[in-house]
Amino acid sequence: MNAPVAAIDHRAVLARHGAEVPRYTSYPTAPHFAADAGPALWSELCAGLDEDTPVSVYLHIPFCDRLCWFCGCHTKQTRRYDPVEAYVGSLVEEIAAFRARLGFSPRLGALHLGGGSPSFLAAGDMARLSEALQGAFRFTPDAEISVEIDPSDVTPQALAGLRALELTRASIGVQDFSPEVQAAINRPQSFEETRDVIDELRASGCVTINVDVLYGLPLQTPERLDATVEKVIELQPERIALFGYAHVPHVKKHQTMIRDEDLPGRAARLADAARAARTLTGAGFEPVGIDHFARHGDRLAKAARAGALRRNFQGYTADPHETLIGFGASAISRFFGGHIQNIVPTGLYREAIAAGRPAALRGYRLTRDDEIRGHMIERLMCDFAIDLDALLARFGLAAEPHVRQALRLAATDEDGLAQVAGRRFFIPPEARPLTRIVASWFDAHLQGGTARYSNAV
Ligand code: SF4
Repeated sequence: MNAPVAAIDHRAVLARHGAEVPRYTSYPTAPHFAADAGPALWSELCAGLDEDTPVSVYLHIPFCDRLCWFCGCHTKQTRRYDPVEAYVGSLVEEIAAFRARLGFSPRLGALHLGGGSPSFLAAGDMARLSEALQGAFRFTPDAEISVEIDPSDVTPQALAGLRALELTRASIGVQDFSPEVQAAINRPQSFEETRDVIDELRASGCVTINVDVLYGLPLQTPERLDATVEKVIELQPERIALFGYAHVPHVKKHQTMIRDEDLPGRAARLADAARAARTLTGAGFEPVGIDHFARHGDRLAKAARAGALRRNFQGYTADPHETLIGFGASAISRFFGGHIQNIVPTGLYREAIAAGRPAALRGYRLTRDDEIRGHMIERLMCDFAIDLDALLARFGLAAEPHVRQALRLAATDEDGLAQVAGRRFFIPPEARPLTRIVASWFDAHLQGGTARYSNAV
């Protein structure tokens, strides 16, 4: 039976279904990649690439000049620059080795530099990476070039490097502007320096600015979050990502610096996320997926309206390319047929590259069942709905058990999280904050696994 939409009690549902579920930036999620499926699977998957189909490329820069205590990324703090310079040398070698293995230069339709803080790179190192990529790939004329930026380390030299890269999109971390919250997460960053960096980026030709805001941070009162959201709107970004802070000190040791008693509870997180979303939509941003907001004319908003939104290891994207090649320590690649993750510690990664070995550490070969479930989960995360006839048209008879599962789940769901209308399985608007829980119903790997995840809201 479907419960009336207004009856959904989010807190009770979270308590019943288990509050920790994956963010579903891939299916299966990275904890299910196998250690015995690294270099051999990587070679096999690379052999499936062709010269004409554009790919996306991700470069991971696992260094920061500070360590924010909330951070969930694979990164480390460094006060010296020489390890960064040496690491860039390994990246250049890895890119060249990839090109040599293929024997041709694939087309590149999108490039993303993440980390860590890619804006920490010296202009010369940015130029070295750009040259390596130009030598290994053929950039499409409309290739999107995006970089994650920490405003505190953007020097005039770094800006020169970003300009040379012909950056089209910058993703700026803000989190919260209040000094109390910033002190509790070790991330001092003024509104003025953030605004100045955005102005510089726009003057350099960067057309899309994304700003990340976090709710659920320590000492973050509703007033502090509201003030941050208002200031972020003042910055006039094209996109805003509103993420819930994932407190996983059992995975990220530096998060033990954040005191449990300073964190908002589940009810406060739910209320904060809902209020911030209302403010953003009231300011003219369109909701995109579970946690993004974009201006009407932005590519992400257009993709969401067209049902063409995708989800990859960086989150929501309008990037349509099926293949994502990741370079660098911990980087994840997605191929037709499987996923690969590189060695995580930078020292071991550099040793493998220096020895001429692939950096692939572990991987996963997709089964037909994984492809179907991965598609269903991606559509739920992007559209809050699965077109069951389209699923059958795409995957044939193999998807019939999955269609039956969807119909059964909607029929037996007593919380009002999922419904079926015609041949469409969907999550009603009131239940969308719990989308990750509905997605997890289709995750065949989740049951019985030992991996731990972040809060669903
Ligand atoms: S600057 Fe970004 S990547 Fe580096 S520690 Fe802070 S949040 Fe993490």
